[in-house]
Amino acid sequence: MLYKIRDEITQDYDVIIIGSGLAGMTAANVLGRHGHKVLLLEAHNKLGGFATWFFRDDRKHVFDISLHGFPVGMIKTCRKYWNKEIADAIVQLKDVRFVNPQFNVQTDFTKEHYSNILTNHFKIPSETVSAFFEYLSSMNFYDNSQLSNRELFEKFFPGRNDVTRILMEPITYANGSTLDDPAISYGIVFSNFMSKGVYTFKGGTDLIINKMKEELLKNNVDIKLQSKVEKIIIEDGKTTGIWLDGKRVKSKAILSNANINTTVLKMVGEEHFPEDFIKKTKAVRLNSSSCQVYIGLKAGESIPHIGDLIFTSSYPTYNPARLLDFKVSSRTFSIYYPEQARPQDLEARVAIVSSTNCNYDDWKKLSSEEYEIEKQSMIEETLLGLEAFLPDIRDKIDIIEAATPLTVERYTLHPKGSSFGTKFEGLEISMNLHNTLPGLFHAGSVGIIMSGWLGAANYGVIQSNAIESYLGTQNV
Ligand SMILES: Cc1cc2nc3c(=O)[nH]c(=O)nc-3n(C[C@H](O)[C@H](O)[C@H](O)COP(=O)(O)OP(=O)(O)OC[C@H]3O[C@@H](n4cnc5c(N)ncnc54)[C@H](O)[C@@H]3O)c2cc1C
Repeated sequence: MLYKIRDEITQDYDVIIIGSGLAGMTAANVLGRHGHKVLLLEAHNKLGGFATWFFRDDRKHVFDISLHGFPVGMIKTCRKYWNKEIADAIVQLKDVRFVNPQFNVQTDFTKEHYSNILTNHFKIPSETVSAFFEYLSSMNFYDNSQLSNRELFEKFFPGRNDVTRILMEPITYANGSTLDDPAISYGIVFSNFMSKGVYTFKGGTDLIINKMKEELLKNNVDIKLQSKVEKIIIEDGKTTGIWLDGKRVKSKAILSNANINTTVLKMVGEEHFPEDFIKKTKAVRLNSSSCQVYIGLKAGESIPHIGDLIFTSSYPTYNPARLLDFKVSSRTFSIYYPEQARPQDLEARVAIVSSTNCNYDDWKKLSSEEYEIEKQSMIEETLLGLEAFLPDIRDKIDIIEAATPLTVERYTLHPKGSSFGTKFEGLEISMNLHNTLPGLFHAGSVGIIMSGWLGAANYGVIQSNAIESYLGTQNV
């Protein structure tokens, strides 16, 4: 059932899920389908977390926030843990472009095509390219390798910043990875993308999340929106429920889809964990945040096909720190052609979203006046960048607006507007949570592998299995 905002929850549950990001929703769906009594609570007024959208000008414009591309594995995940209709809405983005001072290449982002580019454009011997891809696919998450991305690229392509750029830049954009991050997480994410290209949902985020909502309700998951959980209740060393609007709701297990540090330090409280666990939790670093510029065209305006996803930069070389620069020189354009992105909507307009990685503190320290000036300046820089592909774009624009890390923080409750949760070390805390505090589980963006649409959904499945094992022990 879908609770109304004023409804009071009087039932007990097997599992309460705090947060309806893709991890929370997928876990809820699996557990509901398996017959457990599940309550899904979401602070926002709609499901989806970062998998979200917004309308402007009386629904004339719709913008997707995080639907830029995900790996092919999402088809299998959706077929298995959601339904065929959702899986069948996934389509490939065939035209990915890189335009920067070092190279200008177009690719479908498959392993075959990338190998061709590396050998033919970058003149890397084919044996080296094969050895690189073989090395990546042999990497195992549990290997505990200390190799960094920097060392990985030096090992296979010494001194080749241009090659590092084409291999690393999309992943840096996708999840904020740097050259100092562990090569293992790069290897797994890159291999995921590189198998068969980049994919998206045909129909837009609103359509997919609404289909997921229908599926959740069909599987008897109870949902309540605009319900921000204040506290997780711990009694006799295990979780027994939550506080919501000053009322207690009981459950045998809790799955938090909120940020891992917020879950441990604020929603539960330090006093319920061993000192060493708290020390490690406090040391978990947040991932970087991002800025977006949303551009909606006038009714009836069209643009030529300039690519689906365009990674552009005017910076001379690949430099991950520069990708976060306040005075941005690098951005990704996602182009939403209405007939491809929202074929069900005959009135749909062309939308263009420009994304850049950035540092929260660069925006946080501004006065409100400076903040508005910098937002306008970002919009202007974005238009200048876009004019290189669409010289007459200014004449076609109906609306344009910018979002910063402060916008992300305000709407998602993610500390410092982090787009991809925490760095790698957050995974250990997340996965060990229920071993430290029985009944309390976490799923959601931690590390790089568990982030993104696919990573988050899969992590929800992994944690739902762990919850089922725990519930088994509680029912005997
Ligand atoms: C701008 C941007 C672009 C992106 N682009 C891509 C992309 O192209 N491809 C890709 O794969 N990934 C992309 N991502 C990342 C991807 O969207 C996320 O990794 C993924 O959606 C995160 O899912 P999650 O399950 O971790 O939860 P989140 O999406 O973080 O959702 C958590 C939910 O919990 C709720 N919540 C938190 N605290 C509480 C509380 N106390 N009570 C109740 N509810 C609470 C929040 O309101 C939120 O809805 C992008 C992210 C951003 C920000």
